[in-house]
Amino acid sequence: MSNFQQHNFSGHKALIRVDFNVPLDDSFKITDDNRMRATIPTLQKILNDGGSVILMSHLGRPKDGPTDKFSLKHLVDHLSGLLGGTTVKFANDCIGDEAIQMAASLQPGEVLLLENLRFYKQEEKGDEGFAEKLSKLGDIYVNDAFGTAHRAHASTAVIAKFFPGNKKMFGMLMEGEIAAADKVLKSAEQPFTAILGGAKVSDKIMLIENLMERAHFIIIGGGMAYTFLKAQGKEIGSSLVEMDKLDLALELLEKAKTKNVNIILPPDSVVADKFAADAHTKTVSNDHIPEGWMGLDIAEESVDLFGNIIMGSKTILWNGPMGVFEMEKFHYGTLEIANLVANATLRGAYTLVGGGDSVAAINKFGLADQVSYVSTGGGAMLEYFEGKELPGIAAINNA
Ligand code: AMP
Repeated sequence: MSNFQQHNFSGHKALIRVDFNVPLDDSFKITDDNRMRATIPTLQKILNDGGSVILMSHLGRPKDGPTDKFSLKHLVDHLSGLLGGTTVKFANDCIGDEAIQMAASLQPGEVLLLENLRFYKQEEKGDEGFAEKLSKLGDIYVNDAFGTAHRAHASTAVIAKFFPGNKKMFGMLMEGEIAAADKVLKSAEQPFTAILGGAKVSDKIMLIENLMERAHFIIIGGGMAYTFLKAQGKEIGSSLVEMDKLDLALELLEKAKTKNVNIILPPDSVVADKFAADAHTKTVSNDHIPEGWMGLDIAEESVDLFGNIIMGSKTILWNGPMGVFEMEKFHYGTLEIANLVANATLRGAYTLVGGGDSVAAINKFGLADQVSYVSTGGGAMLEYFEGKELPGIAAINNA
């Protein structure tokens, strides 16, 4: 592996795997360009060095080959704008004659975007022949797609074998993501608190297990808290629960005790009489949620309890919302936690927010620039924190 920042790209054609899997509205307008913005410094460095840039990405989940809906051509103008008006050329196919010719004639300072990789089934299958064809388009491979680093696909992992050790590297986004995650996972200043939320315990079992080896406090909010509360014998009304995970929840609580990790559950909830924005609501103790009511947010007492822990922490990882923050009636807990994490950052804590919905929440509340790092990888970030080696990272590290 080579170091990106120290590499001089002058005269080179960098083939870069980016994650441009951005949401588009019905008229193909990009509704959230964070993933594109995040990789711009990588592209600028190569262009400023006098190199050229060939970009490959997937967009959405096309099932049956090429379709207009999933074409990366919809991103060309926006990308050009993000690059300060640099022309972005577009190849209608990610492999084949057109791509080969356009890549071959690319001049220093020029940018070529290839059509959606997932128009070929071979991409997700990790097909070697397909990866080799892609590899021929550039002379240096840069992986800057943290969002797909947990996939062993042709362009994210397999392709690396077609480049020698000094011609493959992580881009600046990928380096930043790995450094941020490692700061929390491998060298967290104590006390280290993990705040976990979201819908289901089942999605976060391995994450909790791995964090138990590292964190002082694991705060649990969101829908997943009710499975723990139910396991403790509490009445949870009609709140979200995974009945087949009650034993596991108890086991996790027991295991935490033996490891001196404090799992903190919310003491109160905002409950609703239905899952709807116009539901009737009230605040109740989690010792006994009345029949027919469901907990859709944490309430004041929980925010106070969580807040004390958050403000006393030196490292904070936040993954998953505290309630159904998409509805205003139930966004209080998530907003308060976002504010607390921002305040803790101001007081010197290192704070990492990652995982799809907590990132959506911190962006919605306009606080993304007030925490130490916001990850661009949902599933990838989760798997990294579960302690797994991500194929996209391994392919370059183990070269
Ligand atoms: P996840 O993808 O597992 O992080 O879950 C995120 C989703 O969990 C969000 O869409 C939230 O609306 C939802 N959620 C959070 N708290 C609750 C709750 N108490 N009951 C039901 N859904 C919830």
